[in-house]
Amino acid sequence: MTIRFDAVPPLDPKVAAFVGGSHAMLVGNAWLPAASGKTLDVVDPSNGRIIAAVPAGDSADVDLAVQAARKAIDGPWSKMVPAERARLIWKLADLIDANVDMLATLNSYESGKPIGDSRNGEVPFTAETFRYYAGWATKINGETMTINAPGDWHAYTRREPVGVVGQIIPWNFPLSMLAWKVAPALAAGCTIVLKPAEQTPLGALYFGKLVQDAGFPEGVVNILTGFGETVGAAMSAHPDIDKVAFTGSTEVGRLIARAATGNLKKVSLELGGKAPTIVLGDADIDMAVAGASSAAFFNAGQSCGAGTRFFVHKKIYDKVMSGIAERAEKLKLGAGLDPATELGPVVSQQQMERITRLISEGRSDGAEIVTGGARAGHVGYFVKPTVISRTRPDMSVIREEIFGPVACAMPFDDDDLDKLAKDANDTEYGLAASIWTNNLGAAHRLAAKIKSGTVWVNCHNFNDVTMPFGGFKQSGWGRELGEQALQLYTETKTVAIRLP
Ligand code: ADP
Repeated sequence: MTIRFDAVPPLDPKVAAFVGGSHAMLVGNAWLPAASGKTLDVVDPSNGRIIAAVPAGDSADVDLAVQAARKAIDGPWSKMVPAERARLIWKLADLIDANVDMLATLNSYESGKPIGDSRNGEVPFTAETFRYYAGWATKINGETMTINAPGDWHAYTRREPVGVVGQIIPWNFPLSMLAWKVAPALAAGCTIVLKPAEQTPLGALYFGKLVQDAGFPEGVVNILTGFGETVGAAMSAHPDIDKVAFTGSTEVGRLIARAATGNLKKVSLELGGKAPTIVLGDADIDMAVAGASSAAFFNAGQSCGAGTRFFVHKKIYDKVMSGIAERAEKLKLGAGLDPATELGPVVSQQQMERITRLISEGRSDGAEIVTGGARAGHVGYFVKPTVISRTRPDMSVIREEIFGPVACAMPFDDDDLDKLAKDANDTEYGLAASIWTNNLGAAHRLAAKIKSGTVWVNCHNFNDVTMPFGGFKQSGWGRELGEQALQLYTETKTVAIRLP
């Protein structure tokens, strides 16, 4: 397995100028360094080299951004009619499309993901998410109620913006995670303090420029760069932030939920997963092999919905496993900016070390490494796409979220769907699952029994802006995307009037 390093085209001069320029945080209408003057380095995960330095904010910067967001929601933003808000959000979507090359390159440069995935997948999806919520801005209505008490009444509900929202996002899908949070919040009329992950701030900072170009009033979107333990923690605990929305690890989700108790701000969390990928005996093998491989290896497995626990019927187990291993071995590893790359590096040295440690634990626990099983090369943070067979439910590779290109499998040998669902549900997570079968009855029965926020049938990692996404159990609180995301960013107010 070789890694290509020689095929990265030179950066477009405009992108190079942005990456190499000095970076600041968007607070109100101003671009500011951190109050402390500190910075943090952004690294190219394909070679470990530093590519930029961005401000490393702290609680003083959070205070300023919250003041700007409060001023905007008390002022121009709340006076703007929904149709005007919709037009601005739509304009932002158009600017995202117009800047697809810049955004896709930044996204792949700092996260390591294949440029084709950014250019043809994530960036267009980001723009579509803004368009979808632009449509919602004018359709957030209350209801009138028919009252049961004697007398004449008029009672109705209003849906009001929850206020100033803090949004903390991860590095695995830097732009689509931004859109899933920012777009519904803007549609609902909230103002925003956004913190991108410390590994991937550049795309978010460029997005800030587009927010200004679109003509949003100052302070509606503020963007702070910095570490989770400083900026993220200060946002979670801030007394003047009304709601915090977070996507990331379950461990950090717990910290955020605790920190939010001071002012009991609303909290929504989209956390880890350990998705079962269930291949029934009648499944179309070619489709299941292709789908299961992509479930495990897409985005180098750095997706909270990634398929990680494969339950494959005994009679097709060997065929499916050898098919997945064969695909794994053919994947082209390289830098995200190389157009031929199919599997990029993982995002950081820390992630690479965690993934390889878990693989080693699987090996010493007695699982069989079918292919991969180690770091790839000596430069950058590449992990060989790995297939692990003969796992047991108690192994750490089955219990812990790996967040790397690792598929762990176990065979099952009967058609008892209750038993299968019980095994698939044997995890603290409940984000997503996939079922591969042509048996309609089995698909629906199993879909009803699986405890997860999404169940895919004959597909995996399929997200559409209309479909709510979020977790059961320790995978989170609340649902993003679709109409449901608007619930996260609005308060319902009941007005009851006794008619004289
Ligand atoms: P990972 O472990 O995969 O990097 P995290 O859950 O740590 O994922 O990070 C997701 C986001 O949460 C990032 O923006 C990170 O800076 C932020 N974060 C990390 N720790 C905290 C914390 N204690 N409070 C708030 N945000 C945090």
